[in-house]
Amino acid sequence: MDNFTPQSFDFKTLLPAFHTHKLPSAGFYSDTPPEVNVRGLTVRELKHLTASGRFDKKIFDQTISSCLKEPLDLSKLLLADYNFIVYLVRLYSSGSKAAGSKRCVNPECGKTYSFEYDITESSVTSFLEETMPISKTISLPRFKETFGYDVSVEVKPLTHGDYLKIDKAIQQAADMAAKTGQPITSYPLTELLKSYVMSISGFPIPVVKDQFLDYLSPAEANIITSAFPEDSFGLSGKAITVCPVCAAEQEFVIPFTDIFF
Ligand SMILES: [Zn+2]
Repeated sequence: MDNFTPQSFDFKTLLPAFHTHKLPSAGFYSDTPPEVNVRGLTVRELKHLTASGRFDKKIFDQTISSCLKEPLDLSKLLLADYNFIVYLVRLYSSGSKAAGSKRCVNPECGKTYSFEYDITESSVTSFLEETMPISKTISLPRFKETFGYDVSVEVKPLTHGDYLKIDKAIQQAADMAAKTGQPITSYPLTELLKSYVMSISGFPIPVVKDQFLDYLSPAEANIITSAFPEDSFGLSGKAITVCPVCAAEQEFVIPFTDIFF
């Protein structure tokens, strides 16, 4: 203990240990690394997160970032990778036990009850197995049939940054509507399509992206939002819960987001 001096004790040496995990995109997407080293939160970080009751998304991401050994721009991550990192930080911070609450599905009962579940036993992670392109060109058949020329859109998969942008746009539109008494001008589907669509080509004259997207049919919107197989990899979790009063069973979908903490 010769070299121990209390004044210079480096508390960073007490940080929780890092654990290596393969990410759902497994090194097959853009600049995302195949694996990450993640640690749990310290008590101080956890307190900081839960202090105000409702999470500030920016502070939440900064805290999640500080739990990664190698710096990573969270906004550029695919949703699947981001959710998986949030899940790992939660797991290494507070363990695998979690609690939820549900209203009974039996209409004659309707009791709201709490239950516990194990996040590791109730969730499954699947991994991407081949390279995921950063964008795809999708042709929209209706234009060829109606106007005789091919219109296509360049579509990209959604990232955590896109999700933040969509969330902000909807929030701002709601605030504006509340202030002015005018109808809401931003809708989740429009904001979603704006994030997916990078560019439009094939029109003989330039078109404004936002206006164009508002005139798409639901079927075309569906072609765009399903261009990338986002369900085929990532983290999914379900727990079966049983009502303590009438024993009716129901499924609880685990939320892998900030409300998880
Ligand atoms: Zn019940």
